[in-house]
Amino acid sequence: MSIPAELAGATLTIDLAALAANWRTVRDEVAPAECGATIKADGYGCGTAEVARALWEAGCRTFFVALPMEGKLLRETLPEAVIYVLDGLFAGQAAFYIEQGLRPALASLEEISEWAETTAGQHKAAVHVDTGINRLGLTRAQAEALAADDGLVQRAGLCLLMSHLQSGDDAGDKINATQLERFAALRELFAALPASLANSPGSFLGKAFAHDLARPGVALYGGNPFADKPNPFRPVVRLVSPVLQVRDVAAGESVGYSATWTAEKPSRIAIIGAGYADGINRHLSWPVHDGPAEVVIAGVRCPIVGRVSMDMITVDVTGLGAGAVRRGTEAVLLGDGISVDDWARRAGTIPYEILTSLGRRYAKVYSS
Ligand SMILES: *Cc1c(COP(=O)(O)O)cnc(C)c1O
Repeated sequence: MSIPAELAGATLTIDLAALAANWRTVRDEVAPAECGATIKADGYGCGTAEVARALWEAGCRTFFVALPMEGKLLRETLPEAVIYVLDGLFAGQAAFYIEQGLRPALASLEEISEWAETTAGQHKAAVHVDTGINRLGLTRAQAEALAADDGLVQRAGLCLLMSHLQSGDDAGDKINATQLERFAALRELFAALPASLANSPGSFLGKAFAHDLARPGVALYGGNPFADKPNPFRPVVRLVSPVLQVRDVAAGESVGYSATWTAEKPSRIAIIGAGYADGINRHLSWPVHDGPAEVVIAGVRCPIVGRVSMDMITVDVTGLGAGAVRRGTEAVLLGDGISVDDWARRAGTIPYEILTSLGRRYAKVYSS
């Protein structure tokens, strides 16, 4: 359902040109390997269909989702794309994958047998091996057992060997080299299969990590994939909300639930109609450990004061001239120098969580 901007608490603008530019940045970094795109969780909150179309137009042909249902939604938009399901084969659902043309990333011998029995070599799949994250994937011993069974490899239609990095965001962590070595050793067992290891940060660890196919996600949507480096990607989301009301608060008066902020002097507070039900993390409430979260009003950064509530935030606009802010004035929550990384840092989380929490109540506008 599309929500008209004049009836919504806020408008989320998604810059598809920036998204495509970010994809090209990763593509150029991993070339000559192929660059795919991870568009799970509704395209990191940006909208599966719109994101998929923009990336397809940019030249992306291979996509990764988490769930079979996400694969179905993506298939509606991109009938010709290669689509992998990262959470693997859901029990008893092989027929659904086949019908939708989805390739599971088979993550256990049980999944491999089930897929092989149903498909008899007629449908493709990836095999997911673990190299250190201990989440999904075959152990080294299980991979050896599989590799020794040529018939099973054929019947499972294996066409890609993949693994996932534990700390790709930290280039200094030795585990990256260890995982790379383990992956290289596993590749020897499946010499015929193309390979994929790199997520967004992994794509920037050096050519050795790219293998045949990269699977970037968060970088495409403008989040910083690096724990310790500046963000080289263009912002993709912009969030703007009109001020609902401006009120004067006398010195000594508090604002918001549980009175966590008290005006030290006569203050003016702008009320904005978006809150934690819209993905404005409640940890952005005053006080925040490294300074307040801010929004931009009339070009000036103004602190969020008091608690973030479910549908509203309260912002101190005392510093703005009288008349600079009134009912209907635009407040920029994300954009104008405030990034999803800033929100994430202040909320004690990562941009992934900010992006995937951006609610369904916004009016969504796509620019290209
Ligand atoms: C989510 C995910 C990705 C994409 O990761 P980003 O850090 O967003 O680039 C790639 N591979 C797997 C297995 C994933 O779960």
